[in-house]
Amino acid sequence: MHFSKLRLTGFKSFVEPTELLIEEGLTGVVGPNGCGKSNLVEALRWVMGETSAKQMRGGGMEDVIFGGTEQRPARNMAEVGLYVANDDRRAPAQFNSADELEVVRRIEREKGSHYRVNGKDVRARDVQLLFADAATGARSAGLVSQGKIGSIVQAKASDRRALLEEAANIRGLHTRRHEAELR
Ligand code: ATP
Ligand code: MG
Repeated sequence: MHFSKLRLTGFKSFVEPTELLIEEGLTGVVGPNGCGKSNLVEALRWVMGETSAKQMRGGGMEDVIFGGTEQRPARNMAEVGLYVANDDRRAPAQFNSADELEVVRRIEREKGSHYRVNGKDVRARDVQLLFADAATGARSAGLVSQGKIGSIVQAKASDRRALLEEAANIRGLHTRRHEAELR
């Protein structure tokens, strides 16, 4: 699954509409401390359906909306759009008629967030499944937050085992074994 463009408006420090083209291959994001590099990764996580404010380094979900500075008033809305190439037609059936999917998540203060794919309203679950099928998504092991490496190094053996099991694709077996033992 190739992401071709990320578009942000009012999301965290990206108050003005911002577009980032993502070329094939490796992309690096560089810049001084506090310039918004981690916010970009969080935008990716958020548009793919993250539901935990903690994962977004905020107290509540509305904290992703630009909160204002001394020079600029706060905004009431944040929107992130992610363009996903679908020329190989591997998206779930309901999205599979287009060569490119624009997945949009928008949040308004006191109204919560909603999702659209190519302009059509969809459920959070539809967006989460779209990415889960392609082995990516908000909770994918492919997104490693700042500080996470350290926490893995210091983790208890049992927690580290969970990561290895996820990588080996056998995580679901525990649930199934537990269910089998109950029978
Ligand atoms: P580092 O190199 O230190 O990891 P970074 O480039 O990853 O820095 P970020 O953590 O992405 O930087 O950006 C932090 C900046 O984003 C801070 O200046 C913070 O005030 C700003 N910021 C975060 N949330 C909001 C918000 N809701 N409204 C306005 N600004 C915000
Ligand atoms: Mg950072």
